[in-house]
Amino acid sequence: MRTLRDIDELRSTLRAYRQRGQRIALVPTMGNLHAGHLALVTCARQHADIVVASLFVNPMQFGPGEDLDGYPRTFSADQAQLTEAGCDVLFAPAVSTLYPNGLDAQTRVHVPEVGEGLCGGSRPGHFDGVSTVVSMLFNLVQPDIACFGEKDYQQLAVIRKLVRDLHMPIEIIGVPIVRAEDGLALSSRNGYLSSEERATAPALYRTLCVLRDALERGEPIETIIHQGKTALYDAGFTPDYLELRDATLAPVSPTTRHAVLLAAATLGPARLIDNLSVQLPATTATGQ
Ligand code: AMP
Repeated sequence: MRTLRDIDELRSTLRAYRQRGQRIALVPTMGNLHAGHLALVTCARQHADIVVASLFVNPMQFGPGEDLDGYPRTFSADQAQLTEAGCDVLFAPAVSTLYPNGLDAQTRVHVPEVGEGLCGGSRPGHFDGVSTVVSMLFNLVQPDIACFGEKDYQQLAVIRKLVRDLHMPIEIIGVPIVRAEDGLALSSRNGYLSSEERATAPALYRTLCVLRDALERGEPIETIIHQGKTALYDAGFTPDYLELRDATLAPVSPTTRHAVLLAAATLGPARLIDNLSVQLPATTATGQ
């Protein structure tokens, strides 16, 4: 695996692959890799000849007071894992390489509607930061496909809209959530949890499963969401949001069958997110 930090070097390396007619896949990450990230690399391998992973802790997507400085940085271990997973190129630019004029002077990409509410509501500017850096990476790598995790469901929806609206010829592939044995969605931020909090954390997934089952039995959405928030508080979380949306993140309507239950909740120092798909029966009352 080649590790590249420089834009010109990245472009010339990828140009050579492209001239040989090889299909390129991109897997954007912020590092501190775990099996969830590696599932994206495996997926990328299956769809392309050349796999490029990027590792960039993007300051633009962190709000004031968020964990930019403390975000886990484990570069050598990440490099080893990517090599092992069969990645061909690791692009790991410095902040000054992607934002040479600083963040304030940087052109930004804003994806309306789907980026509003949910994580976009609690983290103002977050998806502008994500959309800007992903647009930049798409422009630099010009991949045929790019893989993103369904764990960050709203992010995936934002990227799909970004690519559609800007007519980028890139196929976006969503990869199912990789979980620990106890159900907790793997996340770099799980490392912030104490051992006691780590033992509590799977209650988020368990709660979503209980709520999904109730929704699939046709119980009223409003009641179930209320019960879910109470259950999260009782387990020790501070819920940020718990919402049922349709699969495109539009509000559920009486005709919605394929829905998604999305949650974000704080547990000690960590803000955890998770989601589950829900098949609504025809009888569900949709008031939320
Ligand atoms: P991050 O490094 O947290 O920015 O994540 C990079 C990519 O990995 C994003 O597309 C995430 O959605 C994806 N990802 C993170 N955790 C998981 C997981 N547990 N399962 C599947 N994909 C994940």
